[in-house]
Amino acid sequence: MITLGTQEKNTFLADVNRRSGANVLECYQCGKCVSTCPVSGYMDFPPREIMQLIKLGQRNEVYMANSTWFCLTCSACSGRCPREIEIPSVMEAIRHMAIEEQYVNSSAKVRSIRKFHNIFLDMIRRYGRSYELRLMVEHNIRTRDLFKDVTLAPAALLKGKIPLLVKPVKSAQSIRRMFKQAEKLEKKQS
Ligand code: SF4
Ligand code: SF4
Repeated sequence: MITLGTQEKNTFLADVNRRSGANVLECYQCGKCVSTCPVSGYMDFPPREIMQLIKLGQRNEVYMANSTWFCLTCSACSGRCPREIEIPSVMEAIRHMAIEEQYVNSSAKVRSIRKFHNIFLDMIRRYGRSYELRLMVEHNIRTRDLFKDVTLAPAALLKGKIPLLVKPVKSAQSIRRMFKQAEKLEKKQS
């Protein structure tokens, strides 16, 4: 059951605003973000409800919802938000905060998405770009779903949609330095 907190409410809202750079309090619940979001139908709480839960200080519900993990950071919602709220930044801030505060949504879907995020970021750190074939293989291994989408791979390879091998981009070293810098900043912030 959702109950209104006072101290908790202000703390959580302030934390999310500080971390995301957005002002969630501006949300007036029009729902445009929900009708625009391509994945709102899969979320425990669509973006409008996430905003309201933050305003109500419902840290636990927000952290444990699958919503922030399903968010594609596509910005379709923020492009239509009449209050110009940076909703993807809010979603991302919540993901980071939930990890730091050790809240774990252990549903299979969320675990799979988290693994995908980690593998993807590792690719960018190493090569400065995505390496789709490796991403697919590694994700299948880590999620123990070895044959997922394997029938699609031969056609995609033959048509050159996904390369067999990738070369790191020229700026790969700068990207690695960027990662290190971001890690330092994150440590400072937390
Ligand atoms: S579009 Fe903006 S103001 Fe409307 S519900 Fe979504 S976040 Fe709130
Ligand atoms: S950024 Fe996230 S919440 Fe916004 S429309 Fe895209 S998927 Fe939905």
